[in-house]
Amino acid sequence: MSDLMDLYQEVILDHNRNPRNFGELDPADHFAEGYNPLCGDQLKVYIRMDGDRVDQIRFEGSGCAISTASASLMTEVVAGKRLEEVEALYQSFHDLLTGDPSVAAEAGPELGKLAVFEGVREYPVRVKCATLSWHTLQAALQDQGNSVTTE
Ligand code: ZN
Repeated sequence: MSDLMDLYQEVILDHNRNPRNFGELDPADHFAEGYNPLCGDQLKVYIRMDGDRVDQIRFEGSGCAISTASASLMTEVVAGKRLEEVEALYQSFHDLLTGDPSVAAEAGPELGKLAVFEGVREYPVRVKCATLSWHTLQAALQDQGNSVTTE
C-alpha cells in the first residue's frame, strides 16, 4: 500500500512540475475562476465545446502542488468527454475524497488517474485543494457568474 502511495505522490509531483494543458484558451466557450482561501489556490478554467462534448480544456493559475496537479489531471481526464460523463466523474471524484470509500469504489465511472488523490481524503483541509478545479469546471460549464470559492 505504501508503494502505491509513493506512486501516487510521484504522479502528483510530476503534474505539479509539468502541468498539462496549462495556459489560456482563446476563444473559449466557457470560463470561470476559482479560489480556495484556505490555501490561497487560484485557478482559471477555459473550455471549448463541440456539441455536448468538451473539445478542449485548459487552465491557468497558481496554488499548491495538489491544486495544480488536480487541475492538470482533470484537464486530461475531461477532454473529449460528454457533459454527462464529466458530471459523473465529478461525483465519483467527490465521493473518493469525501464519501465512504467502499461506496465510492463501486459507484460511478472508472476514475483512472484521478485515483492518485485517494490519499488526500486523510487530510480534510487538502480536499478543497483537490476539488477546487472541479468546482471551477462546474461553474464554467454552468456560467455561474464566473467566480467560485470553496468557502
Ligand atoms: Zn492548496
